[in-house]
Amino acid sequence: MDSPSRSSVIVVGAGFSGISAAKVLAENGIEDLVILEASDRIGGRVRKENFGGVSVELGAGWIAGVGGRESNPVWELATKSGLRTCFSDYSNACDNIYDQSLTEFSKTSCRGKIFPSGFAADSYKKAVDSAIQTLKNQEENHNGDFSKGTEPLSTPKTPIELAIDFILHDFEMAEVEPISTYVDFGEREFLVADERGYEHLLYKMAEDFLFTSEGKILDNRLKLNKVVRELQHSRNGVTVITEDGCVYEANYVILSVSIGVLQSDLIAFNPPLPKWKTEAIEKLDVMVYTKIFLKFPYKFWPCGPEKEFFIYAHERRGHYTFWQHMENAYPGSNILVVTLTNGESKRVEAQSDEETLKEAMGVLRDMFGPNIPNANDILVPRWWNNRFQRGSYSNYPIISNNKVVHNIKAPVGRIFFTGEHTSENFNGYVHGGYLAGIDTTKTLLEEISKEKERENKSQTLLLEPLLALTGSLTLTQTDTVSGLHKCDIPTQLYLSGKLGIPEAIL
Ligand SMILES: Cc1cc2nc3c(=O)[nH]c(=O)nc-3n(C[C@H](O)[C@H](O)[C@H](O)COP(=O)(O)OP(=O)(O)OC[C@H]3O[C@@H](n4cnc5c(N)ncnc54)[C@H](O)[C@@H]3O)c2cc1C
Repeated sequence: MDSPSRSSVIVVGAGFSGISAAKVLAENGIEDLVILEASDRIGGRVRKENFGGVSVELGAGWIAGVGGRESNPVWELATKSGLRTCFSDYSNACDNIYDQSLTEFSKTSCRGKIFPSGFAADSYKKAVDSAIQTLKNQEENHNGDFSKGTEPLSTPKTPIELAIDFILHDFEMAEVEPISTYVDFGEREFLVADERGYEHLLYKMAEDFLFTSEGKILDNRLKLNKVVRELQHSRNGVTVITEDGCVYEANYVILSVSIGVLQSDLIAFNPPLPKWKTEAIEKLDVMVYTKIFLKFPYKFWPCGPEKEFFIYAHERRGHYTFWQHMENAYPGSNILVVTLTNGESKRVEAQSDEETLKEAMGVLRDMFGPNIPNANDILVPRWWNNRFQRGSYSNYPIISNNKVVHNIKAPVGRIFFTGEHTSENFNGYVHGGYLAGIDTTKTLLEEISKEKERENKSQTLLLEPLLALTGSLTLTQTDTVSGLHKCDIPTQLYLSGKLGIPEAIL
């Protein structure tokens, strides 16, 4: 068991934000840091797994925001590491909409019950216009202009309307335009398709400041399987207590756990977090986003150009709606991915994988006919039930004010908050986590230097009478404590307390 020892900073969580925060600390000379990670690996929501003979990404899969006026820092890391990626073109997804209610299968075996593309495109345009109008109305109402009334716009009813509404609001993020990721970094998205996984970027970052050998992190400052359960904080420092009873002391903590974890009771704060903080934490939505992977003995879906993404329109919103084949990423892998969100994700997480497989096969047979083969294997990640995640990513409510954003990231005493949810412009993304780690650390470094200045000043003030007494030195405001140490002041004078110096500085 580790015995309590005091570090300058403890970073809780070793996802993108925790690792980027720790790296900036190390680069700025703070080497006595400790990283406490609850799971047995680094990466957090960036996680690969071997499935069906290839490496699939259970968490973040895309580097979103590429090709714009500024360079996405995660894209830069990927380029530097030679990470293999594939461009994703979603623009044709709405030409590949299959509908449960269409009864006839197309004669060509791999086309199924597909909507004519013109019809789908019309519905898509209508749904986009309606979504934009809803947002405008919400904004006007929020700004106090109720003159246009609050009349709801037509709600989606038919399977195709429901499918498109799902794509616009759940699959793509419900973000208010303009979306900073696209404006700043560009509108292109690249799927990571590399056997080393997206998480390879984290290992490359870690290599810069942690001791590694043969691709493994062997640095004792990274402590895995350490579930933080309590943070006791005061003016003097923070005590961190883990589930296995270890106690760690630090001057400061950087807390990078997800918004879902902050909303849960996994970590107790003593004293409790102030109301302004807990209110802000509660205001954020937690999205659940689940990619289910299915491995088949052979392909039965169309694979030509513009066929990578396809949509299933069903009377239940979000019911196995968004599909992708992995032939572009891994040719010959025979893997399909279907994305579920929120309510459907939670429902599927609660049932057995066999049940989920049965449902998914039912949907595929509805699209492609009864003769398709059964899947050989299925992989269902459970982000909602993972107590170290409790969801996939944060979402700021469409109408949220600057105060919420500010309060989410504001430190509480010596506890500094980071993680994708603290990124004002890029929450929900890997680059949000990465940039938040850097921002939070910069704020902490400023605080550390201010604290040093305050200490120097107060020591200077306290030592002035002593120096006057010895008469041998004149002291200026700019003299440093280390400078003073060089002055040969007899230790006994301090220890005897004769000079009225409080014990705290001895
Ligand atoms: C299914 C899914 C798909 C996604 N798709 C994309 C995508 O395509 N593109 C994109 O840019 N982003 C995507 N994201 C979002 C992206 O993964 C996250 O925004 C980013 O990885 C968050 O990094 P983070 O460091 O803030 O948090 P995390 O990665 O969650 O790191 C926090 C760490 O804290 C640890 N922890 C939690 N509790 C404790 C505790 N009590 N004690 C110690 N450690 C603790 C966790 O184990 C974790 O390692 C997706 C996420 C998911 C889940």
